[in-house]
Amino acid sequence: MKTINDFNFKDKRALIRVDFNVPLTNEFEVADKSRIEGAKPSIIKVLEDGGSAILMSHLGRPEGKEEKYSLKHIVNAVSDVLGVKVKFVEDCVGKEAEKAASEIHPGEILLLENLRYYPEEKKGDDEFAEKLSKLGDIYINDAFGTAHRAHASTTVVAKYFEDKAMGLLLQKEIESLDKVLNSTEKPVTAVLGGAKVSSKITVIENILPKVDHLIIGGGMAFTFAKAQGGSIGESLVENDLQELALDILIKAEAQNVKVHLPVDSVVTQEFDNDAETKIEAINAISEGWMGLDAGPQSREIFAKVIAESKIILWNGPLGVFEMDTFSKGTIALGEEIAKATEQGAFSLVGGGDSVSAAKQFGFDKKVSYVSTGGGAMLEMLEGKSLPGIDALK
Ligand code: AMP
Repeated sequence: MKTINDFNFKDKRALIRVDFNVPLTNEFEVADKSRIEGAKPSIIKVLEDGGSAILMSHLGRPEGKEEKYSLKHIVNAVSDVLGVKVKFVEDCVGKEAEKAASEIHPGEILLLENLRYYPEEKKGDDEFAEKLSKLGDIYINDAFGTAHRAHASTTVVAKYFEDKAMGLLLQKEIESLDKVLNSTEKPVTAVLGGAKVSSKITVIENILPKVDHLIIGGGMAFTFAKAQGGSIGESLVENDLQELALDILIKAEAQNVKVHLPVDSVVTQEFDNDAETKIEAINAISEGWMGLDAGPQSREIFAKVIAESKIILWNGPLGVFEMDTFSKGTIALGEEIAKATEQGAFSLVGGGDSVSAAKQFGFDKKVSYVSTGGGAMLEMLEGKSLPGIDALK
């Protein structure tokens, strides 16, 4: 598969699928520019080669051409981040877009209007994809966050290009995951937390052969504790997955993977930040109480495992981190991962909710890499190939 560095863009127009699906404030200001910053290296590479960049993205989930989802709101923020005044065209296909794209000069950037103003985008419509393809000479996909979707601009459009490649962000995502899943360094540790076993089961099965340690935390842990005969009170549980949980433990043992489950939990009677709490053993939680965070002994066990790991993958919080009272386990884990990273371990945070937890507590700056795509990263961890990446092959 080619990368953007395999091409010289002199006098060429790069049609780049970026992920500018950024959060906007009520005043339509960009609240977090990190996705724009993520796309910057690829865009700058094209400009420095002497080419021009035509940028396409979606924003939100518009129904029809709702103005609040117009990409015009982000033009200034994109110009700021890139340090180049960005041009904007109020359509992403058709005459006006083609005219704007044909008038672009080397060193210039054109941002197209929201792709999802057309339902054809999400449908992966052929004709729509062909219209998009008229806007550039070389197709670059740098939108990791939507690479698991077979949409017109992320996947279908690629077949209309002889010259196509992944951008630098997409490349970094793939390389980071490869570093974790195909590492020659050991030990490799995966921390899987979050709410449910059911949403992580494929991930667990796929990564078992690739890790030495598996830490299972969060709501998921209680299904394991109950399956092992423990009393878990009112804690989150998926009763129908108990057998599967035991099966995972057997498979892990057969593959020499050490599984670390929490041994204690911060329990409460109410799902409330100000509720009374106490610490109980994970297999002896009182009736009427539920576990919402990893207890102190569990944190210590996890810390030891992390401290000796060379490669760390973190997906999912260890507790209900959205509430202060139940965030301590997640924070402690983040601090240990940060420490291990400082001492030379490679750490990747990604998939689902973990990125917001990492950002909330400032760990995003202290780990080796934070994935930009929740769903896309989860699918890669599940061992699935992503249509947006396959289309570039
Ligand atoms: P996920 O999207 O699967 O990574 O799950 C993240 C969610 O799991 C977060 O919103 C947490 O609040 C929730 N969570 C973590 N631990 C628990 C727990 N012990 N009980 C209930 N929810 C939890």
